[in-house]
Order: sequence, then structure tokens, then C-alpha cells
Amino acid sequence: EPVIGVLAMQGAVREHVAMLEEAGARAKPVRRAGELSEVDGLVLPGGESTTMSKLLETFELLEPLKARIAEGMPAFGSCAGMILLARQTLDGRPDQQQLGGLDVVVRRNAFGRQVDSFEADLGFAGVDGNVHAVFIRAPWVEKAGDGVEVLATVSGVPGVDDDTARIVAVRQGAVLATAFHPELTPDVRVHRLFVDLARKAA
Ligand code: GLN
Repeated sequence: EPVIGVLAMQGAVREHVAMLEEAGARAKPVRRAGELSEVDGLVLPGGESTTMSKLLETFELLEPLKARIAEGMPAFGSCAGMILLARQTLDGRPDQQQLGGLDVVVRRNAFGRQVDSFEADLGFAGVDGNVHAVFIRAPWVEKAGDGVEVLATVSGVPGVDDDTARIVAVRQGAVLATAFHPELTPDVRVHRLFVDLARKAA
């Protein structure tokens, strides 16, 4: 079984660990650069993306993590994790760091100008039926490069006037990202998708 790290700076670390184990991986929290070499893939939880990028610098994880991702380490970011994995953030703070790995431009707190949080049932490529998606001050993907597969979109969000379908889940190679929080539901299928990506990459 693949060993999947969960970046343990802030956010729903325990929830991701539990989901990964249920999805067939061995999961372990990652706080130091040395621990990065012990994992086959990494989950970047939600939280606050600017704070997380500062903590990554403080713990001297930013450059090692960038390097591992550039080498092709599988990664799964939810919400703030998606922001970190993007190549560029719109409406981010000036000191926002990007890990890269996803050729996307994200907009931070994209729905939040109208609504803070909402839930929706979404179709998700590679998963049968709907996925219940919990959005908390979520970003969306504003622009996706040619190599990026769109896995899910959302539209008709209550309180949002604009009905445009917004991209909220993407994959590029073994890098997966969701603007929402699968770790906050009992549905383990998105984590299973990621564990399968990591297993194939190993
Ligand atoms: N709004 C947060 C940010 O900008 C993300 C929120 C979340 O991860 N739930 O980083």
C-alpha cells in the first residue's frame, strides 16, 4: 500500500489521515522536510493559504516540497491546498507562495464575495453518481492549461448571481485538487481516486 503524507501545518489533518487509511493507503503527518522522502504522495489540507505558505517557509518545507512536486510526486490539495498547488493565485495576498504542479490560475475566496460557505451535489469524472461537496471560503479555477483535466464544475450557487459553471476539481498527471473538502464527508471516493493515482505513480 502507498504511504501518503498529510501536510500537518494546519487544517483538517486528522480527517485526511482517516480518509486515506480507509481508501487503502498508509497515512502519516508530515511536518519536516526529512519526512517528505518517506512518502509516495502528499495531501495538502484546507486552511488559510497565506498562513500555510508562511508556515512552509518557517519549517523550511517550501523549497523541498516544490522540488518533490516538480519531480512528479503525487499530490492532492483541497481548498487552500488547491491554491498552493496552482501556478498563480488571483486575489491572493502579496506574500502568497505557489508550489506549482498544476497549470491553473485560481481565484481565492472566489464565491466568498457573495457567500462564505455552501454545499452542493456534483458530478465528478471518474466517480459514479454525485459527490457531496462542502465549500468553505473556496477558490475556483479561473483558467486551466491544456494538460489539465476538469473533473467537476459547480453552477447555480445560492446567493451567487452569475450562473457560469465554475471549475472546482482538476487533475494534471498525478496532481489532484478540489476547491471543496471531501475529508468533511463520509464519502471516501475522491481519496480513493488519489490513492490509485499514487499507486500507479509508484
Ligand atoms: N479561503 C482560504 C484561503 O484563501 C481557503 C479556505 C479553506 O481552505 N477552507 O486560503
